[in-house]
Amino acid sequence: MKIRVSYGTAIVLGLVHARQDVAPTTAYLLFDRGCIGQCSFCSRANGNVRSQKLSRIIWPEFELEQVLEKLTTPPLPFARICLQTGYNPESESELKSLAQQFVKTGIATSVTLSPSQTLLAGEMLEMGLDHVGIGLDAASPPTYATHKKKNWQQDWPALLDLLSKVGDRIEVHLIFGLGDSEEAFCQRIQAIIDGGGKISLFALTPVNGGNPPEFAAYRRVQAFRFLCEKQKVRVDDCQFADGRLTGFPIAGANLCEALENGDAFRTSGCGNCNRPYYNERPGQLFYNYPRPLSSPEFTAAVEVMALADR
Ligand code: SF4
Repeated sequence: MKIRVSYGTAIVLGLVHARQDVAPTTAYLLFDRGCIGQCSFCSRANGNVRSQKLSRIIWPEFELEQVLEKLTTPPLPFARICLQTGYNPESESELKSLAQQFVKTGIATSVTLSPSQTLLAGEMLEMGLDHVGIGLDAASPPTYATHKKKNWQQDWPALLDLLSKVGDRIEVHLIFGLGDSEEAFCQRIQAIIDGGGKISLFALTPVNGGNPPEFAAYRRVQAFRFLCEKQKVRVDDCQFADGRLTGFPIAGANLCEALENGDAFRTSGCGNCNRPYYNERPGQLFYNYPRPLSSPEFTAAVEVMALADR
């Protein structure tokens, strides 16, 4: 059997020889038997298995056995494996047996699933998977209908039910840039955290057209996500004007301290997940920093938010 491996992961495993500026700290793999999802922003939607891409990453194919051998040869190259999947109910049993092989390695393994697969998510956690990422992606019913073409009334309650049971092992993937206002986006982040889950935040990568979000807005929602997960702010205590986040209940030096040297602007999600170059090309400013920020990078990130000083 073959499996797709992200280009950066393949370099770390020695399957591809190329230089890389920032190495992934999780092994990203892709299992896709033809995704029946219709996400507007995805190059693999509607069963387009010919596309080698997911987000802006290339995923060359290798023999599973060879990949498993590389992953388990000491010193272990990765402390986490993330098995990303295309949504296809017909391949669920194959997915389970594949996941079983990763569980057997003893390396913490995450899997990403569709919001239509909350029952499967529970089953896979029981099988020994460490965490599950759920691709909710859109933050409100209208953007969910437009960009995911799925039923919010069915999927959101099912996700809340999953969070109530195993929320500490669920990362809900949200994409900023699909048309949700900062206020709607932050409200959804709050609801997910109140439900018991965590957020894995992405910026829209316009592989199918559209525009990436402005950095100022993205930095504000990143800061909100971080402060909210740390229980330092709640959405009701923040100020918004016309849907734009204009202020936190903390400001100045207190806000900078709470953003922890810029950790707020790093990739969020499962432990060790840094997803380099998912949202930008090498050399471009990072939406999600895959490594600690330098002091000038942190200063610039805070300044670009252009929050009202209180
Ligand atoms: S947060 Fe990272 S490791 Fe976890 S499921 Fe999402 S992509 Fe995978």
